[in-house]
Amino acid sequence: MNIVMMGAQGTGKGTVAGILKEELNIPHISTGDIFRKNIKEGTELGQIASKYINDGNLVPDEVTNAMVKSRLNESDCDNGFILDGYPRNIEQAEELDRILEENSKKVEYAINLTLEMEEIMSRITNRRICSNSGCKEIYNLVSKPTKVPGICDKCGSEILQREDDSDEVAIKKRLDTYFSQTAPLIEYYNKKGIVHIVESNKAPKDIVEEIKNFIR
Ligand code: ADP
Ligand code: ZN
Repeated sequence: MNIVMMGAQGTGKGTVAGILKEELNIPHISTGDIFRKNIKEGTELGQIASKYINDGNLVPDEVTNAMVKSRLNESDCDNGFILDGYPRNIEQAEELDRILEENSKKVEYAINLTLEMEEIMSRITNRRICSNSGCKEIYNLVSKPTKVPGICDKCGSEILQREDDSDEVAIKKRLDTYFSQTAPLIEYYNKKGIVHIVESNKAPKDIVEEIKNFIR
């Protein structure tokens, strides 16, 4: 099952994919998570990516495409994958098709999570993430707070706000980029007849159920 998660920042792609991967037993590949892990570890990729990410810009396609290609060629993707945060523009979507075609695969489902703008802003500014890169549990100060303030329920590590989520200019730039470059991809996948729209203003487990009904 080869799934692409679409939807603006804050619509819950990461949260939903985190549940779905357990239920479908396929990997959740978040390009944002991979970049953040590399930044934390100070790798060369991380050094390149951080220059773009903190300002709310996209990491260049050459860098992102190469990273995704090598990840998709790992054996745990043989039975499918959930891509989250990729593709983000038409060049990446075309490159993804080429990468998959080389292995006689294709994108089978494009899930489009939709949400009103006001709720999107509230979710982004209230989002907190576990700082343990082996955990990365996503919280929300309003709708999904930790039991002990500031401490991850799952692993006990500190929860933090992403740098790009704390900067209003970066948030605005990311949303602008989403609506100008990423949202048009829904039409790209619509032409292939594989788009499923899910209203995201409900519990993540209910969203997951809806998605499972589509792919059954
Ligand atoms: P969000 O969707 O909230 O922006 P992500 O965790 O998906 O968060 O991505 C964080 C940042 O990582 C993006 O703002 C961008 O700079 C970079 N990034 C992630 N995916 C891609 C991609 N496919 N192409 C280019 N840059 C990306
Ligand atoms: Zn944790």
